[in-house]
Amino acid sequence: MQVKKVVDTPAIPHVEQAGDALAAYIARHPKLWVITGAGVSTDSGIPDYRDAAGQWKRSPPVQHGDFMASNSVRKRYWARALVGFKALSEAQVSGAHRALAALEAMGYVELLVTQNVDRLHQRAGSRRVIDLHGRADLVKCMGCGYQLMRHAMHAEMARMNPEFAALNAQHAPDGDADLETDFNAFQVMDCPRCGGILKPDVVYYGDVVPPARRIAAEAGLSRAQGVLCVGTSLMVFSGYRFCRAAHEAGLPLASLSLGVTRADALLSHQWRAPLTPVLERAVHVLEDHHHGTPWRLPSET
Ligand SMILES: [Zn+2]
Repeated sequence: MQVKKVVDTPAIPHVEQAGDALAAYIARHPKLWVITGAGVSTDSGIPDYRDAAGQWKRSPPVQHGDFMASNSVRKRYWARALVGFKALSEAQVSGAHRALAALEAMGYVELLVTQNVDRLHQRAGSRRVIDLHGRADLVKCMGCGYQLMRHAMHAEMARMNPEFAALNAQHAPDGDADLETDFNAFQVMDCPRCGGILKPDVVYYGDVVPPARRIAAEAGLSRAQGVLCVGTSLMVFSGYRFCRAAHEAGLPLASLSLGVTRADALLSHQWRAPLTPVLERAVHVLEDHHHGTPWRLPSET
């Protein structure tokens, strides 16, 4: 009996078209304010929270107030992190990170604001980066401001909790893991200087972006000629607000992502396509342009 094979229609023509249009957008607005989100890092194997419709795929992350108020929330958080953080710390940069670094090297990026806390943009070579929501590789004392590296704290807590350190579970976003057990026996490390609560240097839900960081991001936006959102649903207000401000200032607003965004109604350009191949295509087109290949600006749509 012959089995009929079902072949998926390749999305390649769409990718090329989107990449050409993105290149045209970048060439016309060569001082870009770029904002990135989880979609940029999913190609690095870091899971994200939301589906293409911008809805939660899983339980929302820990809230700042709960973390600070509850010892049992902190036990659960750190025990799971001991298992899940490996995915974050061992993640490798993706083609999307590299393409954005290449755009900066070509002079197209005024500022890159990332909502990711994985530092992969910096590892890919981007230099003008603001970690809007902080960085997961640092831990800070909420009492005295003492800082230490996350891996040092994990090593100490693995020593304090050998039975937890030996557990395995599916990795989850933000260095979390899908681990359910009795966390009561878990020993959380406190600040070695003042005994205060140690917390990843990350802006949790329910917390605010430090004002100096927000102001630096706004200053970059005021110097920019256009906005490019990459791999973000903009569902979190701290990121969305910049797009609203840009729109009010009359700046063009483009988005490249697989799913919907909260700013869809404000966008001047939207490409719903896979990030890495589209960005790579745009870089390729712009590089040819830089090397003097005669180039007629493709259409932006
Ligand atoms: Zn302290």
